[in-house]
Amino acid sequence: MTAAELKSKFFTEKKNGGLKLSVEEIACADAFCEGYKTFLDNAKTEFEAVETLIALAEEKGFVPFEPGKKYVAGDKVYLNNRGKALIMAVIGEECLCKGVNLMASHIDSPRIDLKQVPLYEASEMALLKTHYYGGIKKYQWGAMPLALHGVIVRADMSTVKVSIGEDENDPVFVITDLLPHLAADQMKRPAGEILKGEELNVVIGSRPFRDDEASELIKLNIAALLMEKYDIVEADFLSAELEIVPAYKAKDVGLDRSLVGAYGQDDRVCAYTSAKALLDLEAAPKKTMIALMADKEEIGSVGATGMKGAFLKYFIKDLAAPYGIEYHTVFSASKCLSADVSAAVDPTFPEVHEKMNAPFVNYGTCIMKFTGSRGKGGSNDATAPFMGSVRKMLDDAGVLWQTAELGKVDQGGGGTVAAYIAELDVDTIDIGVPVLSMHAPFEVTSKIDIYSTYKAFCAFDK
Ligand code: MN
Ligand code: MN
Repeated sequence: MTAAELKSKFFTEKKNGGLKLSVEEIACADAFCEGYKTFLDNAKTEFEAVETLIALAEEKGFVPFEPGKKYVAGDKVYLNNRGKALIMAVIGEECLCKGVNLMASHIDSPRIDLKQVPLYEASEMALLKTHYYGGIKKYQWGAMPLALHGVIVRADMSTVKVSIGEDENDPVFVITDLLPHLAADQMKRPAGEILKGEELNVVIGSRPFRDDEASELIKLNIAALLMEKYDIVEADFLSAELEIVPAYKAKDVGLDRSLVGAYGQDDRVCAYTSAKALLDLEAAPKKTMIALMADKEEIGSVGATGMKGAFLKYFIKDLAAPYGIEYHTVFSASKCLSADVSAAVDPTFPEVHEKMNAPFVNYGTCIMKFTGSRGKGGSNDATAPFMGSVRKMLDDAGVLWQTAELGKVDQGGGGTVAAYIAELDVDTIDIGVPVLSMHAPFEVTSKIDIYSTYKAFCAFDK
């Protein structure tokens, strides 16, 4: 055997998807991402992601899940958990006792929430107090156009939906930052405090209510507008979930248009690709196929709509009960692709990765055997046989894929919903799209990687 033969026999050749995929496949990836960008523009919050996905699902014949009903192969159902999390399922031909194929992503993204008593006036301007949600670099959110999304529940329990800043003609909002000329003290702060949590104040207006008798006329003028336009009073903010997000739309990035730049791609990129794989099923799958979109991943998967909540357990219980099957029987036989993004190698900061085990943009969907930090703390470490079966599944389907871990050992780390699903006795592995500038207001992904992730989910049924 020559050295060249030995080399090609033993080592895996790594190749950029831009060379490995056919021209037709790359065109398919580009076309696929047009739908993805529209989805991102319509789904800036977890609420809107649920609404948008349900609309797509209903077009394909999905109906609300009815506990206790005996479903047959090909039936399509969805379960809306409080408007903030979603389960979509297509019933398979095999008995539920053989397990389900689960794809689990999350639809909450780092953002800035309004406080429950937000409105105040300072220096003759009206502002809103906020409390950030998830892991953000706070300084990234200053001096950029922001939109306000969410729901307000009035005293009589009637609901107002809010979306301001997305339409071309809408006003936007802004968190002001200091001019460099006067920032000498600010620039000496540690980066985490360049803009402090209590400095993320959102400008909402600056003109006074035209009456000289009262105080705080600017705040009062905004109050008048809120009453007139939304029929709300200050106390209604107490029962509201209002989220500040970037006001711009998803864009192609690069002269070659190879990348997608947008807010909220962690993890709506996996929500969309897994949902699409389910929606595009042409026949009943072999095993029941489920796409789950969880809330609250960015703050620890907590709460009734987070992955530590019971809604998946109850759904499987209700789905299996009419057949006399215990839910743990279903879980123990099930497989899960925990669908979440990974951190792509940033050409400007390659030193945080260990190159042999790092994901590169355009090298396909990324499998992570484990996540976590330090000694794999907080991770789901998939077994070798399950990793093997996923590897075979992707290779058999001709999916472009790579493997990685989240940065150098002891560089930092992070977790996903994988660990909480694995705790239900489900074989689970992390898979998803590598992202640049993750958790920033403008995250970047590759169209080839997005499409490869979609293809990976499509292969799950095989
Ligand atoms: Mn994520
Ligand atoms: Mn995240």
